[in-house]
Amino acid sequence: MQHSNIIMVRFGELSTKGKNIREFIKKLGQNIKDGLKSFPNLTYDIKHDHIYIYLNNEDFEQVKFRLSLIPGLLSFSLCESVNKDIDSIVNKCLELAKEVEGNKTFKVVAKRIDKLFPFTSDEINRKVAGNLLHNYPNLKVDVHNPDFKIHITVREDIVYIYSKSYPGLGGYPTGIAGKALMLLSGGIDSPVASFLMMKRGVRLEMIHFAAPPYTSEQVIVKIKDIIKKLNVFQPSIKLYIVPFTEIQKKIYEVCDRSYAITIMRRMMLQIASRVAINHKDIVLCNGESIGQVASQTLQSIRAIEKDCILPIIRPLATYDKLDIIKLSKFIGTYDISIRPYEDCCTIFSVKNPTTCPHFDKVNYYESKFDFSNLLDEAYKNIKVEMISEEENYF
Ligand code: ATP
Ligand code: MG
Repeated sequence: MQHSNIIMVRFGELSTKGKNIREFIKKLGQNIKDGLKSFPNLTYDIKHDHIYIYLNNEDFEQVKFRLSLIPGLLSFSLCESVNKDIDSIVNKCLELAKEVEGNKTFKVVAKRIDKLFPFTSDEINRKVAGNLLHNYPNLKVDVHNPDFKIHITVREDIVYIYSKSYPGLGGYPTGIAGKALMLLSGGIDSPVASFLMMKRGVRLEMIHFAAPPYTSEQVIVKIKDIIKKLNVFQPSIKLYIVPFTEIQKKIYEVCDRSYAITIMRRMMLQIASRVAINHKDIVLCNGESIGQVASQTLQSIRAIEKDCILPIIRPLATYDKLDIIKLSKFIGTYDISIRPYEDCCTIFSVKNPTTCPHFDKVNYYESKFDFSNLLDEAYKNIKVEMISEEENYF
């Protein structure tokens, strides 16, 4: 029986997960199927040690590109199938080694699963290696530290051979670590923070604070475009849009300007916590990076977070801006993030925000006005949207 070529997927970090491994593989298998749904001919075989994807004439290069963006894969290889006889095996290995340039060392790793095959694993190794050495004088055997390996697996029905491995994204399958709520602005940082959370296995919901008419509808378009890029890692993402104008106006009315950003962030966290708790998001996340701006000094972070009832994860806390920019280009959000539309923080920004807010001053400004009605009102008027990967997005 002739098989189509198959992709063998390795999971790496997952294999250390002991008894949860079954759940991990199931999740990864489902995420791979979801991520590759635009290739209708693919079929899957989800095993305890690998996931096999049968190409059935789908284009490998396209599948490879998409696969390399799915969290939880360590690496993958395209395996070529050959007929089950020693000459076909040797010929395919000669063909693979033909591409090798310069003086290189190699190792043949044969695995005979079908014990009726007339050559043992060791005999296959010797036969193939002998032929390679004979035909390519630039090659040498090194069983300990070879430049490349040729893997041969002899199964009951067919023989698979591969030598190249392609790196996967690493991390865990999105969703395996539970669900969290990300504060998503239109800037460069929070989309990158979102990607890092998803890659760590966390399924995200997004919350955005908008201040119309001070912020334009274009900001919402921008947010949605960013989320569509993130759909590559998580095919459907829920977005909560909070009308924040009245709260912001009030903050600027009652607080000293230098504390406005601190108080504003604290209000955002109150609403975000409420959304998170009511929708079973376990923690909050944001795109803060230590020292990047006044509201991200250690003292500011502490003052902003002090009454927050949920933990806040900051994947970018220690990242340099240049590294964040690199990642934002990699995930494709950079060009969207730099679109010039103002978000609510830029509109209301102040010249001298404090870098060291004091708790008593924070408490004092918040006691000058009872924000609870405005917070309730904003919460009640949250708009919810589900954003999913578009067909033919690539
Ligand atoms: P970003 O590039 O993500 O906008 P930034 O460097 O501009 O970050 P800030 O504007 O201080 O930093 O925001 C810090 C974090 O607070 C953001 O990464 C985001 O998680 C959250 N945040 C800021 N503004 C909003 C908003 N309007 N809606 C939702 N979250 C926001
Ligand atoms: Mg910002």
